[in-house]
Order: sequence, then structure tokens, then C-alpha cells
Amino acid sequence: MNTDSVQNGVVVSMEYTLHVDGELLDSSAGHGPLEFLAGYGNIIPGLENGMIGMKIGDSKKVIVPPAEGYGEYDNEAYLDVPKGQFPKDMAVEEGMELTVRDDSGEGRYARIESIEGETVRLNFNHPLAGDELHFNVKVVGLREPTDEELAHGHVHAGGHSH
Ligand code: ZN
Repeated sequence: MNTDSVQNGVVVSMEYTLHVDGELLDSSAGHGPLEFLAGYGNIIPGLENGMIGMKIGDSKKVIVPPAEGYGEYDNEAYLDVPKGQFPKDMAVEEGMELTVRDDSGEGRYARIESIEGETVRLNFNHPLAGDELHFNVKVVGLREPTDEELAHGHVHAGGHSH
């Protein structure tokens, strides 16, 4: 396999910053480079596509529109739930983030948008839905995945398997 540049099936190690509206939201500075297996949906599509062909040491600014990032903001993605449906020992507060199981049992991200009396309004939009994402990325490593990583479709950081 050719691991000279970012392409599907290569494990990429990158340093990055993420700005939205000029504000720094995330950075690899605190926790070290991010490693991901390209081509398996492990990072948002717009960022991955923008990095194809980069070599070790290359830096790039990648601007990702909402549709290729965390989606357009959906004004319909709200649900009103009676407060009584929450566990009694849970301190229900505006801004709280939770995982809601849908009918198929799958977990879905939600945030408490507002509380009006006994009605809790959930917002299912990702916090960055509708936002243009400004990434500055630098490729610091490229390698072949292990057979197991390739079979799983993701990297096993630190050599652990799962
Ligand atoms: Zn795995």
C-alpha cells in the first residue's frame, strides 16, 4: 500500500485546530495528534476530503460547509417531553446534554433547549449544526493500518484492541 499521502485505507496522524466564527473550539494541542483511518467515516467527510493527497509535514486550511460537517440546522429537530419522564434523581437543567434512546434502541444526541413549567424541550441538532468549520490541519504521520484495524474500520490507539 502507498502511504506517501493521505488516501483511503491509510492511518493519518494530524495536528489540528478548529475555529467557528473566529473562536477556537477544539485543538490537538491539549491531547496530542489525532489518528484516524481514512476512508471509513471516522472524521467528518468535508475534512477528510480536503486532506486527500496531503503528505507528512503539509499544512492546510480546510473550510467545511455545514452539509459536509455536522449538518444544516434543522428547525424541526425538537421534541417536547414531560419533566416526569426524566429519572427523579436527575437534575434537569437547560443546556444539559444527554443521549436519548429512540424506538429502535439507538442512542441519539440531544440537548435540553428550555424548560417551561413541566415541559422540557429537547433539541436534537448537533451543537455545531449549521456552522461553517474552519480547520487548520498538519499531517504529522502516515502509516499502514494493521489487519485488525482495517477489519474494524478504525484505529486502535495505543495498541489496544476492541
Ligand atoms: Zn476495533
